[in-house]
Amino acid sequence: MSSRHALLEQLTRRSADEVGALRKSAPLKVALTYPSPYHVGMSSLGFQAIAREVHLHEGAMMERVFLPDDVDAWRKAGLPPVSEESRRPLKDFDVIAFSVAYELEVTGLFTLLELAGLPVRREERGPDHPLVIAGGPLTFSNPDPLEPFVDVLVQGEAEDTIHQVLHEVQGATDRDALLARLALRPGVRVPGRSPEATRYLVAKTADERLPARSSIVTPHTELRDMFLIEPERGCSRGCHYCVMRRTTNGGMRTVSPERVLELIPPTAKRVGLVGAAVTDHPRIVELLETIVRSGREVGVSSLRADRLTLPLVQALRAGGAKVLTVASDGPSQRLRDLVDRKHSEAQLVNAAQLAKAAGLARLKVYNVVGLPTETPEDIDELVRFTLELSRILPVALGVAPFAAKRNTPLDGAPFAGIDVVEDRLQRLRKGLKGRAELRPTSARWAWVEYMLAQCGPEGGLAAYEAHRNGGSFAAWRRAFEATGCVPFEARRTVDGRRTASVWPTVGPRLTA
Ligand code: SF4
Repeated sequence: MSSRHALLEQLTRRSADEVGALRKSAPLKVALTYPSPYHVGMSSLGFQAIAREVHLHEGAMMERVFLPDDVDAWRKAGLPPVSEESRRPLKDFDVIAFSVAYELEVTGLFTLLELAGLPVRREERGPDHPLVIAGGPLTFSNPDPLEPFVDVLVQGEAEDTIHQVLHEVQGATDRDALLARLALRPGVRVPGRSPEATRYLVAKTADERLPARSSIVTPHTELRDMFLIEPERGCSRGCHYCVMRRTTNGGMRTVSPERVLELIPPTAKRVGLVGAAVTDHPRIVELLETIVRSGREVGVSSLRADRLTLPLVQALRAGGAKVLTVASDGPSQRLRDLVDRKHSEAQLVNAAQLAKAAGLARLKVYNVVGLPTETPEDIDELVRFTLELSRILPVALGVAPFAAKRNTPLDGAPFAGIDVVEDRLQRLRKGLKGRAELRPTSARWAWVEYMLAQCGPEGGLAAYEAHRNGGSFAAWRRAFEATGCVPFEARRTVDGRRTASVWPTVGPRLTA
């Protein structure tokens, strides 16, 4: 069997395992494209929701394209990215619509366009090339680095906007006129054309379209065979580092349990409740218990320690959970207060005790280091507290270096420094002495993420340069230096442009 045939055979096998695949033939061909591999993209409820919307759009057909699992093998075989549904090459679609979740996925976008034989830079493509669109969670914070590569950005919640964009595309005979029209739509940005006043506007989907839910269920994701549905969207809280906080699109919007239950297909054996703050749903226990009583497994994407009760944790255990995952997001009480993360030690201890009482095997706690004003004493508090938790039940501590995001009160806060973050992680490691499992994120890649989160379009050009030079950390650092990328806060002091940032002008407690 040739290597090309073997690679395509993998796609055939996973397609055969899918339940609920969307197939249609229509004049406008849209490749809904994920710049990470299949098992990541198919775990994304946002990607699945937009797949459904594009599929339902009259006159358009949607097929999915993912970054190959083994990019080198595809490159060596000379295979272009092809769709899951019909094996159509990416470059043969009319529209390529990327869904980008976070900063570092921009390199997946480069790889897919290269493998497809398409120019990566927008200015090198013409009206005969597919229209390249990007949307997804990244557009809530800083999509600027995507500007040099895409024709159109669909910003914020896209369930309505994508129909408006496709409608314009269907009626267009001239690419230039199409872009001029799209540039004026709220929630849509056409690089170089949209007015500055609407450049960062994000769209809000009409409540009637909620909840988002999976169309396709597959065993080939980490959420194996799980039907995903969104009982709430957004969040009513105000953590200073978070893009999905209460000021985004009006805060939390809930869907009734009755509506959620009626949308779960009879064939679904596992249900994932997805949202920014699922346990803040006022009827979450009732919803969980009803799903469990129907004989299904259930998982929840976001547990808040201050919302946990024994019935809720028992329902999760009965629904198949073995690990309770909560976020602490501040190594000390002082820093949790600083970033308005309203969690106390007592609430986190309570979470551990509830997990133990309900028979769960482990507590997983997400935390952050490198927050503004952090000192070694804050890390010592995290060590002391994590050891206390580990005396209740085994603890896994996930630690991410803080990288400030645009459209948050901490926008513009500096990165602590790779050396500082590595010191903090080393201090944690020494303090924990293996009595809790430490799962840190790389300080170097967090710095790259920070630069992309804070830089403008030149950050994207640096990313492309780094990608072309092999993508090592050294290549990224050289590229940022060569392209003169300046994080947004520093740029603001240079050109006087304003942001919503309150850092570092208000302190020590930041105001929302
Ligand atoms: S971090 Fe979580 S709880 Fe805080 S604002 Fe964001 S979604 Fe809400």
